[in-house]
Amino acid sequence: MAKVYFLLGGNLSEREKYLSDAIQQMVSKLGVLVASSSIYETEPWGFVHELNFLNQVVVIETCIAPLDILDVTQQIEKDLGRVRKKNQYSERTIDIDMLFYEDKIISSERLIVPHPRIQERLFALVPMLDVAADLIHPVLEKSIRQLHELCADSMEVKKYRA
Ligand code: AMP
Repeated sequence: MAKVYFLLGGNLSEREKYLSDAIQQMVSKLGVLVASSSIYETEPWGFVHELNFLNQVVVIETCIAPLDILDVTQQIEKDLGRVRKKNQYSERTIDIDMLFYEDKIISSERLIVPHPRIQERLFALVPMLDVAADLIHPVLEKSIRQLHELCADSMEVKKYRA
């Protein structure tokens, strides 16, 4: 079994419902939910019409291979978007990024793990601190706590729900 870390994000109405719907589908298709962070709210710069982003990290224990997981999460993104489209909203309701797959390093056309921008984004590092502050990034060889201390991102990431 592998521990896989995902970052979920969404900034359309019913943001929380999309997070919980996505998690429910991920659990039913991938494996066991072993940890989840608080939900955080991030203000996007320069988007006056959009809601702030909500972000959450979840950890799922699974025996499914990385590319097969990507197929599943991309299908979930599509399925949740499709429901939304019928109601005439934008299709981008939920974004699911694979941050880590155990300590595997993967670099293929479709999938880069660890996700290449974790260290630049407080909205990924802050929820990761909740679930795995001591996890070592296998490429940068620093813990999540160290990457958070070093991160130059100035975006405000506020706790939305514990
Ligand atoms: P985005 O629009 O930012 O969600 O990016 C989606 C694209 O990133 C897809 O084409 C994926 O194949 C690719 N991708 C590469 N690495 C990852 C990853 N670790 N998690 C999710 N998508 C990834």
